[in-house]
This record gives sequence, C-alpha cells and structure tokens, in this order.
Amino acid sequence: MALKDFVGNEQVVKFLRKVTLKGSLTHAWLFSGPAKVGKRTLAIEWAKLLNCQSPIDSSEGIDSCEHCSSCRHLSPERPSYAQNHPAVYIVDTLLAAYWEAVEKAKGAEEVDLKKLSPKLSLGINAIRTLRDAIAHQTFGRYRVIIVDEAERLTEEASAALLKTLEEPPDKTIFVLVSANPWAIHPTIRSRCQPLRFRLVPMQTIAHALKSKGLSDYEVNLISRLSRGRVGWAMEMLQKEELWQSRSFLLSIVKMMAEMNWWDVFKFAELCTKGAEEEESGDETKTASQRRQLEELLEGLMLVWRDIWASNLEVEDLVVNADWLTTIKQIAKSSDWAIKVLWEIRQTYRQIRPPFNANPQLAFELLAIQTMKGALQ
Ligand SMILES: [Zn+2]
Repeated sequence: MALKDFVGNEQVVKFLRKVTLKGSLTHAWLFSGPAKVGKRTLAIEWAKLLNCQSPIDSSEGIDSCEHCSSCRHLSPERPSYAQNHPAVYIVDTLLAAYWEAVEKAKGAEEVDLKKLSPKLSLGINAIRTLRDAIAHQTFGRYRVIIVDEAERLTEEASAALLKTLEEPPDKTIFVLVSANPWAIHPTIRSRCQPLRFRLVPMQTIAHALKSKGLSDYEVNLISRLSRGRVGWAMEMLQKEELWQSRSFLLSIVKMMAEMNWWDVFKFAELCTKGAEEEESGDETKTASQRRQLEELLEGLMLVWRDIWASNLEVEDLVVNADWLTTIKQIAKSSDWAIKVLWEIRQTYRQIRPPFNANPQLAFELLAIQTMKGALQ
C-alpha cells in the first residue's frame, strides 16, 4: 500500500504530499478526527514516504515506491510490536501490553502473542520506546515516532513526551494520533500542528469495496454499516468474528424486544459474558472487556436507532439493511424505541470512566428500564 491506495480524506493526503515535497516540516503533528477513518494508517504511510529511497512522482503527486528496503520494512497491517523499521516507531496500547508481557516472561521468546490484549493507558513502557527511539542513530532520512491514541498517555508519559517536544532531536517527526484530542495534555496539544480527518462519504467507501470484488449487496450493506469509518469497513472484509458478533447483536436486540422479568438476569449475563474475570484485577483483561461492552452498546444504539427510523416510516435511514424484516417487526410491536435508545446511552455512560459501574448490574438495570411493562 502507498498513499495512492488510501481511501478518503483526500485533502489531508494532498496537504501531506505538498509539505513533504517542500521539505518544510513541522516536528510535531496531531492527526485527529473520528475513530477508524485511517489516521494511524496515513501516519504510517506518510512515514513511509518520508523515508522512501526512491519516491515516485505520479499524476496524483509524490508517493512512496513500495519496493525499496525502507518501504518494505513498514506496513500499516503489521502490529506495532512487529514493526522493524530502523527509523519509524509506533507507540500504542498493544506495544505497552507487549513490553509488559516481555518483562513478565523474562524474554520476548516466551510471550504468547495471541493472548496480548491492549492496555488502557500508555505509561512507562511508552516512555521507554520514546527514549530508545531517540537514543538510536537514525538510519532513515527522518525518524518518525507515531503515538496512537495519544490521549491515553499517562501524566508521567506526557511529561516525558513534552520534554522531547520542547527540545526536539534533529530530523525527528512526532505524529500524535487521537480520536479524543481534547483529552491530550493541553501543552502537548499546543506544540502540535493539527490535521483534522473527517468521516468518509459512503460512496467513496462503496467504490473502494467494489474494487475489492464484492457483490453489490455486500458493497451496499458494508458501506452503510460503516457510517463513514473506512477502517471498520476494511476490517469487516478480513475478520470473520466481526460477522459473528453481529449475529450475536441481533439476538440481543430480539431479546430486548420481548423482555420479561425472567429474562433480566439472563440478558445481563449474556451481554457481560467473560466480564466475571474483572475481579482478577488484571488491568489488561479489564480494558478489553470494557471495550467489548462499549462496542456491544454502540451496536445496540445503532439497531434501536434503526427501529426508531422504522417507527417513523423512514426506512431509507435504516443502516442494518440486511435486518430490515426483523427491524420492521420489532418496530410494529414497540413504539418505545426512543426510550430504549436513551437507556442504552445511560448504560454506556455508566460503564465508562469515571463511573465504571459493575457491568452485570448496569445491564440488569438496562433490561428492567427497557421492559415494555415498566415504561408506563
Ligand atoms: Zn520506497
């Protein structure tokens, strides 16, 4: 992959090409915008271009060659801990988990990579990578340090980063990536050149999916479901488990539509499956379970929004188009979709910081609040 293959946010790509060609580069950048629109991917592709040994000049503008030894060492698909470019470093919550596992196992050979699960924050391990990166001599033209989910840097890590940003080493570029830029330390934010990403139009995503050989039905469904998040659409093509979690989502929605008192406990148990390990105090596990719950609630909000749209007879707005029959059935028998949406939103707030409510209890409450009979 090179810049020419990047889908959406054309203005951002154009801008980066221009500044690269000019060679007048600010040393700190902040790529912000919605999740899964390609911020991290573009940061890596840009690092590739900056270090390419024989960049090409295509009709679309300057681009990396994809063949030189530098280009071959860098791939957005590879996880952060497996990147082995001598001048490009990717700091993220998975790398933090990797370093922690290496420490525990007393050696990288012992680490079970399949069991790695991203950490909640970027702390001491992030600083270590940062220091290592700066201590090493640069072999590429630019040393590029990408910090993904920069809002997760701890106070300590933020202070270390700030110090480096204030006395930047030569030929070093920092790219901070974040979907929640306001949560980044304000002084760090003020040192960065902001670059804002936007959601990608549905037609652009559809076009990209079509070029991958998908049927019209699949193109239509996935581009609708993606809601502008091109990265999510591409993941859908590769990960079978994402489709499985969709059918689980549908079963949960059906259960909500028919909920009675006997189902409350079962509903909460199904939704929070696996969350019982929380008590173990393992922060990594807790983080990934909380994320799963958040994703489930986001999915539920979307389906209930569809049911609401169907209530209002604006079915063009239904995103989960492949479930239209079921959505119509539920909409016909239930006119409380807006109330359910509100309650899901409340649960979503409660299970996240700073509240961190017990998931089982939060979902039991959701079940009770959204039960038909309980709404009078
Ligand atoms: Zn190259």
